Amino acid sequence: MQNLHDPAVIKSLLARHGFTFSKKLGQNFLINPTVCPRIAELGNAREGSGIIEIGPGIGVLTNELCKCADKVVAIELDSRLIPILGETLSEHRNLKVVNADVLDLDLRRLIAEEFEGLEVSVCANLPYYITSPIIMKLLEDRLPIRTITTMVQREAAARLCAPLGSREAGAVTVAVEFYSEAKKLFDVSRGSFMPSPQVDSSVIQLSIRENTPDVPNEALFFRIVRGIFTLRRKTILNALSGSMGIDKPTASRVLERAGIEPVRRPEELDMSKLTALCRAYIAETVCLD
Ligand code: SAM
Repeated sequence: MQNLHDPAVIKSLLARHGFTFSKKLGQNFLINPTVCPRIAELGNAREGSGIIEIGPGIGVLTNELCKCADKVVAIELDSRLIPILGETLSEHRNLKVVNADVLDLDLRRLIAEEFEGLEVSVCANLPYYITSPIIMKLLEDRLPIRTITTMVQREAAARLCAPLGSREAGAVTVAVEFYSEAKKLFDVSRGSFMPSPQVDSSVIQLSIRENTPDVPNEALFFRIVRGIFTLRRKTILNALSGSMGIDKPTASRVLERAGIEPVRRPEELDMSKLTALCRAYIAETVCLD
């Protein structure tokens, strides 16, 4: 195995394959040798586990995952990296590389086909341009996975792990909290990557909940959440009536039933208030969806 943390080795490998970095695909490869073993260990790569890796790049994290887990499936969009991975990871018999856009894949089927009898987790150094869509897909699909352990931009880490009711929380924070328990594991400086990005990063972990909060209609719950958070600095009365297209008297009744003061801001609501809001909305409006 070549030393994939050594910039000189990486440069010569990439030059041999005529590979140039794509900014558009968020290609910043890890060169700090301490980071990948920590992600693998904290990310549940161990005997009896199967790991889905998203965006293996040249395989530096993949190599650690293959050393620790029973099986790894690495999903890489950039077809130019496939022959490179074939070279750097040739020693691993427990690896399957899939050349695809993770957002297009049926991950439930992939898990059923590839990981029978294994406890599955996701590990990644995600491309930052689609961090939220990927995390939302992993959560909303209600996949049979234990944890998602991933590198994200530091600001995204703060938003994803923010307590509900705080200023940093957004609609994506509500979704993360709904499906999982989020925590920041450790920070990673921009110098740990090649090329070095303009921002610092953090590794976060989402532990998937067995039981999600009780809402009668999940799609409606998230429609309300997304709606009110687009108007997050307005009062909840204005945000609810504006985003859901209901008149103010109806919005007032919904809030009263939910036990929420109309002058509160959407960003101040915690999970119990948000679920109460959804239940009250259904009770006060003729809502069939
Ligand atoms: N894991 C490697 C590392 O840590 O050095 C590379 C991480 S790099 C930040 C992100 C990787 O995701 C790149 O290899 C990029 O080509 C890949 N990627 C970007 N968009 C993707 C997508 N939609 N589906 C799968 N992989 C994607």
